[in-house]
Amino acid sequence: MCPDEVDLYFELSFSVPVCLVLEADEYTRDIVSQAASSLIQRLPGRLKGVYFLGNPFRYHVLLHRDFPENAPHWFRENLGRVSLLNPVLESLEKEGWQQGVVIVLCSRPPVDVEDWLGTPLGERIVFVRMGDTSLGQGINEMPFSVGVDAILAGIHNPPLDIKVKGPGFFPLKASCEPKDTKPSLVCNAEGLSLNLSTAGEVDLSIHIKALCTGEPELVVKRQRGQEERIKGSRERSWFSKERWSPLSDEIKEVVSAGIEQRGFVCSLCGEEHDFDTVMCPQGGLVLSGIPLNTTVIFTREGFLALYDSIAYPLMDGKRVLTEDGRLFEWKGREWIFLRSIEPYEEVEDGKWALFHSL
Ligand SMILES: [Zn+2]
Repeated sequence: MCPDEVDLYFELSFSVPVCLVLEADEYTRDIVSQAASSLIQRLPGRLKGVYFLGNPFRYHVLLHRDFPENAPHWFRENLGRVSLLNPVLESLEKEGWQQGVVIVLCSRPPVDVEDWLGTPLGERIVFVRMGDTSLGQGINEMPFSVGVDAILAGIHNPPLDIKVKGPGFFPLKASCEPKDTKPSLVCNAEGLSLNLSTAGEVDLSIHIKALCTGEPELVVKRQRGQEERIKGSRERSWFSKERWSPLSDEIKEVVSAGIEQRGFVCSLCGEEHDFDTVMCPQGGLVLSGIPLNTTVIFTREGFLALYDSIAYPLMDGKRVLTEDGRLFEWKGREWIFLRSIEPYEEVEDGKWALFHSL
């Protein structure tokens, strides 16, 4: 199977969704209810639902006032249940709750808390202690008295490693918001990926043009919890079509000499130079007007510089030439690095490429 060209759009939210799990106990009901209400007020758009220990049912809170209006009734429904995490967490696992955080408000540790310590979902639980006594060793807890701000800071789970990868994936172009996000092509033992490093803490959106044989995914590793995989949506190309520029007569002569690997007479100094000379020894650029520090593809008539691309597809997508002059070839199942190109190497019928870094 040959890789196809696709256009994809991905989004990544820095603030993770939250589930609240409450203890329904006669003695703590009022403080738990008040604490939940003040947390809910600070989680607009992020609250997936409210649960009670021992009950897999999810209570929906769309507006903040839904909680105080319904809480007395919901607490009554759940009084006397065994304080268990299992019913709630199993239901979240079944739904594929991959990235969110679970906040448990309780005064005593749930009876099955040890079953979840150290599990991928367990790592994303934060216990907010409503009483004075610690919930026990190894439990990620904080007292409610630290305040809502500190609790929200404690559930912060920023992405540390963000990349796009997938079967037969080779990125050709990428455009990210915020703009300081740096996409870089990484080729290692795990295959090819496009790594996205971002300094900020703003939600990311990414448009990508790529070759692939399957569905590329955005793979995100946050500070806590397991890897999360986000599917992209297909879109109409975000990128404008490549614009080839014509070669001036003067440059055409230099490029022809390069293609034919023969010396040429330099228009700057009048001396003859080797075919791969880019800088005149007397000073000045032999290829004036042609961008350097990036791969440039020439035909006999025009050129295309790849500085705003990651790579350029050749031979109907069976070969790819990267912005920094590396040539890859599709070998039936994966991309294999062939070599860094030679000056004016013919990379496809009638196309020659040059990578020169100053
Ligand atoms: Zn010269």
